[in-house]
Amino acid sequence: MKVMKFGGTSVGTPQRMKDVCKLIINPNESNFVVLSAMSGTTNSLVEISDYLYKKNPEGANTIINQLEQKYMQHCEELYETEEYKEKTKKFLNEEFKYLRSFTKILFTSFEEKVILAQGEIMSTNMVTNYLLECGVKTVLLSALDFIRTDKNAEPDFNYIREHATKQLNDYPDYQIYITQGFICRNAYGEIDNLLRGGSDYTACLIGAALQSDEIQIWTDIDGMHNNDPRVVQNTRPVPQLYFEEAAELAYFGAKILHPTCIQPAKFAGVPVRLLNTMDPTAPGTIINNQMQHGTIKAVAAKDGITCIQIQSSRMLLAHGFLRKVFEIFESYKTSIDMVCTSEVGVSVTVDNRSHLTDIIDDLKQYGTVKVEDDMVIICVVGDLSTENIGFETMACEALKQIPVRMISYGGSNHNISFLVKKDDKQATLQALSNTLFNK
Ligand code: ASP
Ligand code: MG
Repeated sequence: MKVMKFGGTSVGTPQRMKDVCKLIINPNESNFVVLSAMSGTTNSLVEISDYLYKKNPEGANTIINQLEQKYMQHCEELYETEEYKEKTKKFLNEEFKYLRSFTKILFTSFEEKVILAQGEIMSTNMVTNYLLECGVKTVLLSALDFIRTDKNAEPDFNYIREHATKQLNDYPDYQIYITQGFICRNAYGEIDNLLRGGSDYTACLIGAALQSDEIQIWTDIDGMHNNDPRVVQNTRPVPQLYFEEAAELAYFGAKILHPTCIQPAKFAGVPVRLLNTMDPTAPGTIINNQMQHGTIKAVAAKDGITCIQIQSSRMLLAHGFLRKVFEIFESYKTSIDMVCTSEVGVSVTVDNRSHLTDIIDDLKQYGTVKVEDDMVIICVVGDLSTENIGFETMACEALKQIPVRMISYGGSNHNISFLVKKDDKQATLQALSNTLFNK
């Protein structure tokens, strides 16, 4: 069995939904299909929630009405028969009635999560009904019955494995199993989610839990590129990535994958394939347990980084100093991405600025603190182990014209990271592409 996940654009129109159905039907085996909400829907649901927080039910209703009109039109285009048009419209009408009911009650983050869950609930219903209309033996499983997070808001993997397996046993012999990406229940049984972009995570959790043959993530680009195609010319899809390489790229900015979704697939040893719905025969990118020695795979950039330098005139790196610095960040639940140390100072980067003022105040007890905003982490991924002499030199050589603020090398065997100013991002990415891939 394969787990196949389709993102918002892949189910963004009735025609695209039909195209997805062609890809998932396989007469020789059943597939487990994870769907996002139709593109734009989750953003609209966020907007509705924002209006409700601000006690503006008119604003919320305007968007609900627009969304409802759009979905009714989709039903006209998606289904052949009156029976399925009516059946799906009836379901969607109930959904929009439910959304409207939130305009009359006290609105909290709990209600917001319930609202955000409706996008995936609607898209999976629509596609399930289409497959049933086409005569395909399909069952829609509610992710709320088997995707769960624990008290730390992390997926509860044992629960997921047990309950996903139970679902398959309860519904044997279906050709297609469909479920919602993104949504789950939390440790208290409430409706929750795996954060924006979380459908990839759902797919990887299910693929790992069921030990599927492969997890396919279908998007609208032909795999993970060796550099950001929106910023740099002549990028190419990377045919293969090692799990750790893909995790670094996803974390450090390659937008195609949810940053933590690789972990469960890696632990279960299930390969992840990135494919393109608009070009289904393109090979895409396979992510697996094989490390190809002697190659640099890709470059990615993470924007919105703040660099904090702490310098002390005293013996700064006396033992215990770094612990004290890190504890300050920990106490504000702010994680650090890059670290560089010297005898008299330490520089770290963060992407979460919500507690920056407090953090800086606390750090001041240990020395002078300097903050630089609008920085970008550029991460080069591949075989950067010490046996592979020269790759870090090549990367540094490429950047000889760029004022590099920090370099981090040796934290893992797969990554070298550079911190540069936002204004130098494009030049840095292009220089690395020219030197590493386009020679
Ligand atoms: N629909 C959710 C979002 O837009 C989850 C996903 O598509 O992965 O973030
Ligand atoms: Mg996504």
